[in-house]
Amino acid sequence: MIRGKAMPLYEYICPDCGLRFELLRPLRQASEAAPCPACHSDAGRVPSTFCALSQDESGLTSSIGGNSCASCGAPGCDTCGL
Ligand SMILES: [Zn+2]
Repeated sequence: MIRGKAMPLYEYICPDCGLRFELLRPLRQASEAAPCPACHSDAGRVPSTFCALSQDESGLTSSIGGNSCASCGAPGCDTCGL
C-alpha cells in the first residue's frame, strides 16, 4: 500500500492455540482483540517485548532495582522508543 499513512503493525497471540500473528491496524484498534486466523478465538495484543522481558531468569543478576527498562534505563517503558 502506497497511499495514505502506513498502518502500524501489531502482534497478537492467541490464548487458545498459542499462535502469534501480526496485523496491520489503525492505532485506535490496536488494543482490541483480533480474531485468531487459526481457531478464530479472540487473541490479545502482545505487549511490546522490548521492555517487557526481564533477563533475570537467564542467570544475569543485574539486581539493582530490577524495574527499569533494560534498553533505555527509564523506570517505565513509555519513554523507551525502541
Ligand atoms: Zn488460535
